[in-house]
Amino acid sequence: MISGAQQQVELAARFTLGCPCTAEYFMEVTSEAQLAEALDSARRAGLPWRLIGGGSNVVPVDYLPGLTLQMKIAGVSREPAAEGRVLLDVGGGESWPELAWSTAAQGLYGLENLVLIPGTAGAAPIQNIGAYGAELGDILQSVRVLDVRTMQVKFLTADKLKLAYRHSLFKEDGGRHFVITRIRVQLEEQADLRLEYADLRERWEKAGAVKHPLEVAKIVRDLRLKKLPDPAKVPNAGSFFKNPLVHDETYQRLLEQDPGLVAFPLQNGQWKLAAGWLIEAVGWKGQLSPTGVGTHDRQALVLVNPGKAPGSEVLHVAGQIRAAVKHRFGICLEQEPGNLS
Ligand SMILES: Cc1cc2nc3c(=O)[nH]c(=O)nc-3n(C[C@H](O)[C@H](O)[C@H](O)COP(=O)(O)OP(=O)(O)OC[C@H]3O[C@@H](n4cnc5c(N)ncnc54)[C@H](O)[C@@H]3O)c2cc1C
Repeated sequence: MISGAQQQVELAARFTLGCPCTAEYFMEVTSEAQLAEALDSARRAGLPWRLIGGGSNVVPVDYLPGLTLQMKIAGVSREPAAEGRVLLDVGGGESWPELAWSTAAQGLYGLENLVLIPGTAGAAPIQNIGAYGAELGDILQSVRVLDVRTMQVKFLTADKLKLAYRHSLFKEDGGRHFVITRIRVQLEEQADLRLEYADLRERWEKAGAVKHPLEVAKIVRDLRLKKLPDPAKVPNAGSFFKNPLVHDETYQRLLEQDPGLVAFPLQNGQWKLAAGWLIEAVGWKGQLSPTGVGTHDRQALVLVNPGKAPGSEVLHVAGQIRAAVKHRFGICLEQEPGNLS
């Protein structure tokens, strides 16, 4: 028995993919003390455990043995900061989309390109969330973590987190024992807008080169709503694969083979291939498997699960898509959401 946990809890509604999933024990955690106590109980009972945030970047199995925790630590407070800057200390269970929208509405710069990304603040560093030319790493200062090996609370500064494209220390073996309980982000009262992303710049110019971060946030919102399905209507986990990074040699080979290839040059001489284009090129765009899992008709990179099929079926279809892309282009697509088991 785990004190304070419910037993045999149906969790499908807590995952944006809508996959059926039952937890043997389930508990929301609202403080570090409660988190530590729950982990200690699981350990004493010899039970496995895992933690979720908003469930928007995981593919769950049907049954989760042991204890499943959901991060609900709340609170947003201002910390002392240099002039013109605002330092926010944010509970790991705070809603990321609410935080991003409300800071933009307050006239603070930093999160305006990252609005409407589902999930919690505590999960945002895990894959260094990014969109429209911005990444969390641009404004993240530090994270507060519970080290579950020692049960000590620590601060880790952003430079120690190995933040990269959809990657961080927390995705490596050396970082999986941390639970993020709070994050600190530094926003600016005045700043340059980040408009490198072509679609965003074009819309921004059309909108009269607006300056207020909320106006930029609204353009990003409109762009996102045009392309991405709402998980409440069509279950999905956002981009299902990372955009592959390749050397120039590989890019040139693929370009010769397919002159329509979509790719973006990176500063280090590599190229970021548009995974959505690769998936569309192998005929998967807008296609559904017999069990109803497939890709979105406006963005092939998004796997959709309208029939709320099990996680195993989502992974099966993802495997078929990956095999088709590998066969035609020799490129291995890497899955973005984690498998939750
Ligand atoms: C419609 C849609 C659009 C999306 N768009 C984007 C986008 O533009 N850019 C982008 O980067 N992502 C995007 N995503 C993916 C997703 O929103 C982000 O990865 C988000 O940060 C996941 O947050 P979450 O709270 O839902 O995490 P969950 O899915 O619950 O968890 C993800 C992983 O993080 C771990 N985790 C969660 N919280 C913590 C914590 N506090 N401490 C330690 N580990 C933790 C979990 O164990 C799991 O391994 C999108 C998803 C959807 C459904």
